[in-house]
Amino acid sequence: MKRYAVRNLRMCTKDCLCLFVCPTGATDTENSVIDKTKCIGCGACADACPAKAISLVPYAYPPQQPKTPQVITALHYLGRSKASAESAALRLAEAAGDGMYRLMKGIAASERILGADLMREAGYMLPQSENTRAFLQNIQHDPDYADLPADTVNRLLELLYPDDTE
Ligand code: SF4
Ligand code: SF4
Repeated sequence: MKRYAVRNLRMCTKDCLCLFVCPTGATDTENSVIDKTKCIGCGACADACPAKAISLVPYAYPPQQPKTPQVITALHYLGRSKASAESAALRLAEAAGDGMYRLMKGIAASERILGADLMREAGYMLPQSENTRAFLQNIQHDPDYADLPADTVNRLLELLYPDDTE
């Protein structure tokens, strides 16, 4: 499987060993992002990195394993139960005092992560990046997208970024 190297800048301690061992100069860039066009996927940088900041990732990921309709139905059911649990925890957080508020918010966040995992397993992509948020916010006011149902766009923003409405 053809791969290329990526560097996690948060883990990088900038000792530059990857620069010394890379045979193509792919790691030596102005912005610290490994140059994918020069990388031959040899893995020398990842082996040399003392901070384990470099990983080799495939150019193409294999397709998700097919699942039977029964499994997908069960995943939907579990995903909905996690969404209900998250809502219940958020309602309790609103009604709770200081200590309980943090606990309930933590439980809600945990249920949300579990629910998101379940829905990904069921085949849904959950677009929660900043780019998605900016895109949705832009099309709310863009006349080119006037025929899109504004209520649905607003609801998507509420569901994907609940912290915005706090
Ligand atoms: S070897 Fe690892 S820690 Fe050192 S500069 Fe390269 S990525 Fe950063
Ligand atoms: S995998 Fe090899 S070619 Fe690619 S950046 Fe690392 S050392 Fe350089």
